[in-house]
Amino acid sequence: MSHVVVIGAGQAAASLVAKLRPLGFEGQITVIGEEAVPPYQRPPLSKAYLLGEMALDRLYLRSESFYTENGIALRLGRRVDHIDRDAKLVHLDGEAVAYDMLALTTGSVPNRLPNAIGGDLEGVYTVRTLADVDAMAGAFSEGAKVLIVGGGYIGLEAAAVAAKKGLRVTLVEMADRILQRVAAPETSEYFRDLHALHGVDLREGCGLKTLTGETRVEGAELTDGTHLEVDLVIVGVGIRPDTVLAEQAGLAIDNGIAVDAEGRTSDPSIWAAGDCASFPQGQGRLRLESVGNAIDMGELVAENMMGAGKAYVAKPWFWSDQYDVKLQIAGLNTGYDQIVTRRDGAAVSFWYYAGDRLLAVDAMNDSRAYMVGKRLIEAGKSPDKAVIGDSSADLKPLLGP
Ligand SMILES: Cc1cc2nc3c(=O)[nH]c(=O)nc-3n(C[C@H](O)[C@H](O)[C@H](O)COP(=O)(O)OP(=O)(O)OC[C@H]3O[C@@H](n4cnc5c(N)ncnc54)[C@H](O)[C@@H]3O)c2cc1C
Repeated sequence: MSHVVVIGAGQAAASLVAKLRPLGFEGQITVIGEEAVPPYQRPPLSKAYLLGEMALDRLYLRSESFYTENGIALRLGRRVDHIDRDAKLVHLDGEAVAYDMLALTTGSVPNRLPNAIGGDLEGVYTVRTLADVDAMAGAFSEGAKVLIVGGGYIGLEAAAVAAKKGLRVTLVEMADRILQRVAAPETSEYFRDLHALHGVDLREGCGLKTLTGETRVEGAELTDGTHLEVDLVIVGVGIRPDTVLAEQAGLAIDNGIAVDAEGRTSDPSIWAAGDCASFPQGQGRLRLESVGNAIDMGELVAENMMGAGKAYVAKPWFWSDQYDVKLQIAGLNTGYDQIVTRRDGAAVSFWYYAGDRLLAVDAMNDSRAYMVGKRLIEAGKSPDKAVIGDSSADLKPLLGP
């Protein structure tokens, strides 16, 4: 009987194994995960769960009975130490598990602040795991002074939740503007204004010089010369793909674990999906850090393990919740040269074009713009910019009959 082993019990793993049985896989399935809990959704960790508005059991992607009913063995709280490709074994503290097909869904690890500037002080947190957020809960309370380092989506979402909960929030972003790596200046401006409206002290072009405190963080010195008193620090300075096992095993690495169009690594018995994997795209490779990608790649790998021979076609989408604003993003904006703005009351969207080609849409409280934009991008259609910019023009006809 064939045995599929999946390392990493996160979003991609859950999608992969859930797909195997409906496809007719009758062999053994084992998922090994370092975290002590079954696969769960990470997005609420910096949104509703952090705010205290989502119960723990709603985070889980599937009920525990789902796994037993489908003959999926979850080995939780166990970290795989290394992979022996010749013997087709994975090793976890003294135990060896044999596989016929192996999938790596090891996700990402958050970048931390160096210890030399106080990264190891108590009261300094990252937001990647449920354990991270639960550890922060005691300090994350009304009136506390929080410094958020990094103005990407996770930092901004944490700032929004903190402000909503009555913490006093300072956010520093070393780059000239928040969201610089991922969005146009128009989107940065939109969220800068939104946070200002909610009393966040948002400083761009300003980094953290050092944290101060004996064992627990008490203060922060910023590169603009300011000294702040702080009770806790949330670090949102990016993530990197978790390639530790793959590197040890000698698999090809290229901005993550390099897979082919079907999701196979440089070893034909080993597959990879989700945050940890980079796949061929155009002339180069792409790696995405999103739920949609983890689901789609996980399912694709399941299909290809069963011999489907399908190539991965990424359909990037993402969202972020801050205060009462839902941002929805479709497409990838790399290479854009023009932004077309569409504004209709509280509904605002920024459309990224390269010449006449539509690449991506950032839609704020405008699910119609998002939905239409996503479908147009996936169909390779580029609407007339004048229509997009005219808020009285109906978008739906752009999709055609
Ligand atoms: C706070 C937060 C907010 C987010 N918000 C959004 C959002 O709004 N929209 C969106 O699209 N995406 C969002 N994301 C990103 C999204 O959650 C990830 O892209 C997705 O979880 C990736 O799934 P994955 O399966 O690749 O990795 P993960 O879900 O990270 O799972 C990987 C698992 O592998 C385990 N692992 C690693 N190495 C080993 C080993 N050697 N042995 C055993 N286990 C191992 C890890 O412990 C981890 O549990 C957010 C992420 C975070 C952290």
